[in-house]
Amino acid sequence: MERLEFGIPEWAFEFHGHKCPYMPMGYRAGAYALKLAKLDKEKDHRTFLLSEMSEEDMNGCFNDGVQASTGCTYGKGLFSLLGYGKLAIIIYRPGGKAIRVHVRNSFMDELNVRASEFFKYRKQGMEPSEIPSEAIDPVLEWIAGLPDEDIFEYAEIQDFKFKPVKKDGSKVKCEICGEYTYESDIKVLNGKFVCKPDYYGRK
Ligand SMILES: [Zn+2]
Ligand SMILES: [Zn+2]
Repeated sequence: MERLEFGIPEWAFEFHGHKCPYMPMGYRAGAYALKLAKLDKEKDHRTFLLSEMSEEDMNGCFNDGVQASTGCTYGKGLFSLLGYGKLAIIIYRPGGKAIRVHVRNSFMDELNVRASEFFKYRKQGMEPSEIPSEAIDPVLEWIAGLPDEDIFEYAEIQDFKFKPVKKDGSKVKCEICGEYTYESDIKVLNGKFVCKPDYYGRK
């Protein structure tokens, strides 16, 4: 049996590195999306997860939680960012339906009040792991006690279009540095197959 902390497996906190509100929110969003789509946590490569956040958005902790609960990880090529700047995810398995789960505005408004001390420390430049537990534990208890419906709203997306990136496994040796390089990243320089650092110049 997995050991839970604030309703979330302990290993997820360990993997993430600190206690914060956004990782558990992402974990819950992913678990809820799986439940709505009637899917199990992805072991292999069949389910895709699209987060509506962008790389510039703060609180990317959310995306660690999403990957932890769904098994749709960046490394397996199952996780991507849509860049809309929203706390929402879309889960999709080809052949099935796509489900969008969005963090309710009402939840966000209450989070800002309940976690005001935590966010104040963050604004002062303190890292989450340095923030006293009194400022975060009650927030995590509160989230753990809420039903999914109070945190999220969801919708089924009709005619969802999504094309997974085609992966390439073949590697060739760069004719300059000699290192194995995935073929899709190879460039041609004076008739030689070379890696990008040798093509564009090394920094
Ligand atoms: Zn975090
Ligand atoms: Zn090279």
